[in-house]
Amino acid sequence: MAQKRFKTEVNQLLNLIIHSLYSHKEIFLRELVSNASDALDKLKYLTLTEQEFKGMEYDPRIDITFTDGDQKTLTIRDNGIGMDADDLDKQLGTIARSGTKKFLSQMGGDAKKDANLIGQFGVGFYSCFMVADHVEVITRKAGSDQAWKWSSDGKNSYKVEESEREEQGTTIIVELNEEGDEYANRWQIEQLVKKYSDHIAFPIFLEYDQESYEGEDNKEKKIEHKIEQINTAAALWKRSKSDLSEEDYQEFYKSLSYDNEDSLFYIHTRAEGTIEYTTLFYIPKKAPFDLYQADYKPGVKLYVKRVFITDDEKELLPPYLRFVKGVIDSEDLPLNVSREILQQNRVMSSIKIASVKKILGEFKKLSESNPEKYGEFIKEFNRPLKEGLYSDYANKENLMELVRFKTTENDGFTSLAAYKERMGEDQKAIYYIAGGNEETLRRSPLIKGYIKKGYEVLIMDDEIDDIVIPTIGNYKEVELKAINKSGAADDIKTDEDKKKEEEAKPVLDKIKEALGDRVKDVIASTRLEEAPACVVVDENDPTVQMQQMLKAMGQTEMPEFTPILEINPDHAILQRIAEIDDADMVADVSNILLDQALLAEGVMIKKPVEFTQRLSDLLSKIL
Ligand code: ADP
Repeated sequence: MAQKRFKTEVNQLLNLIIHSLYSHKEIFLRELVSNASDALDKLKYLTLTEQEFKGMEYDPRIDITFTDGDQKTLTIRDNGIGMDADDLDKQLGTIARSGTKKFLSQMGGDAKKDANLIGQFGVGFYSCFMVADHVEVITRKAGSDQAWKWSSDGKNSYKVEESEREEQGTTIIVELNEEGDEYANRWQIEQLVKKYSDHIAFPIFLEYDQESYEGEDNKEKKIEHKIEQINTAAALWKRSKSDLSEEDYQEFYKSLSYDNEDSLFYIHTRAEGTIEYTTLFYIPKKAPFDLYQADYKPGVKLYVKRVFITDDEKELLPPYLRFVKGVIDSEDLPLNVSREILQQNRVMSSIKIASVKKILGEFKKLSESNPEKYGEFIKEFNRPLKEGLYSDYANKENLMELVRFKTTENDGFTSLAAYKERMGEDQKAIYYIAGGNEETLRRSPLIKGYIKKGYEVLIMDDEIDDIVIPTIGNYKEVELKAINKSGAADDIKTDEDKKKEEEAKPVLDKIKEALGDRVKDVIASTRLEEAPACVVVDENDPTVQMQQMLKAMGQTEMPEFTPILEINPDHAILQRIAEIDDADMVADVSNILLDQALLAEGVMIKKPVEFTQRLSDLLSKIL
């Protein structure tokens, strides 16, 4: 059969693996063993659920052998589900996961950084080309009589041809190159399996020849062929905490998550009572690369009584906790749970509710016991937690304690609790400014009035804040108010301010008339210190930045929300407007005021040409 070319992304991945993961080349064995274990899981599941496979007898196992001659080889064999020719093309000729493709297209070419990133999505099978010149995969799919051989040198192409294999399953023969010849060694293999694959639920056997000398003067060489199980083969999560070391937990995490780094922390729980289950959840140090992609890979695997059921179910935890990796193993679910059953199952929903509670509880504990580590966590996962504020009503109170915000008080993050603690007695609300990047927000002319009063303002620069925060309403009976909406202004008004507002009335009307339907209203500001004007939106309208974002996201059917122009009556410009009679001049100045206030908020003005025209007209008049 003819050679087939790898899809370009496979070439890209191969290149990247070989060049950037070079210092971790030993992980190829972990990847191959983990694929073998997945294949055994899949077959086991079929024998429990599919009529065709129910009577099937086989003894699930993984066998490793090696040869140590001129051409050193390493062979990993499993009697799992196997592959047919079509599977081989799809699984070992392309990269099926779209997230991985997208990721590859974003690679920066910084080998070190790429190596860390690449670890996040699993290098998988192709990693064996770090240590091999040539790889053969001989495989037969369960239920089929035909076996196939896939072979490649990992350069540009591969070949698939008919082959033979006694039973279902897959044999991977790795012809080691110079980089890999150290792995054709009993001690190396044992050590790597212990390190990376000890918990694999199936026995892993190593075959080797043991030489010994006996007879007179120990001169008779004797070679014994041995087959020895080299892993513990117990589901790690079922072992007791006291049995497990930090290293055990972290190695398991790596095999489960594709992450090359340790996890930030983990939560191991065994529930006994009306519903029995075990969960082991891990929080990665870095957000998974596909966290914000719709086709993200779920992080949690479901097992029923140690039998693998699925790793492709997004609803095991709520979507906002999609960065959590781990295992749920239930004693009470039926083995043949379908996706539909899962979604309505009472047992599953209890496990889910309890797990979320547990996870959020642990986050809270961490925030109290180790603020520094919690800071690392927040840096990566603040945003998904905010999604939770929006979507998980039942846990809203807990989530409000967990999310963090930037603030005018300091450069770091604050909790709502700490903000509340700092509030003076006269302060009635928690103030925030949302929409736009941090710099624009921090420089917003509105903030100064609050700071002057001694009020702290939360800087909400996360895109999602604008959507989420208005839904919170209150934190412990204190209202959250956006200062770039009209409602918060009254809170810092003094009697003197009110008097000023009265006095400013005529000039306000003059400007309002000049601007016509470009504004909803023109009001006097009592919170602008230096700037002549700023824009705010009506209490129930989205902020101007938010409107811009929604448009960018394709929401074109949005009604036009006109802004409210807040002007600073103390500013020299405004006092001049009060004095002039020239209607054109008033119109020019008013429009410029509005446009520059919009620009200051980072908003693209609709008629930039008109703006510059007015500005240059005005300049020429003055000069
Ligand atoms: P991943 O395991 O992350 O999906 P891999 O590159 O390691 O990525 O493997 C690609 C696919 O090839 C697997 O998803 C599986 O379908 C198939 N595969 C690999 N090894 C085996 C095996 N030993 N038995 C059956 N299928 C396998």
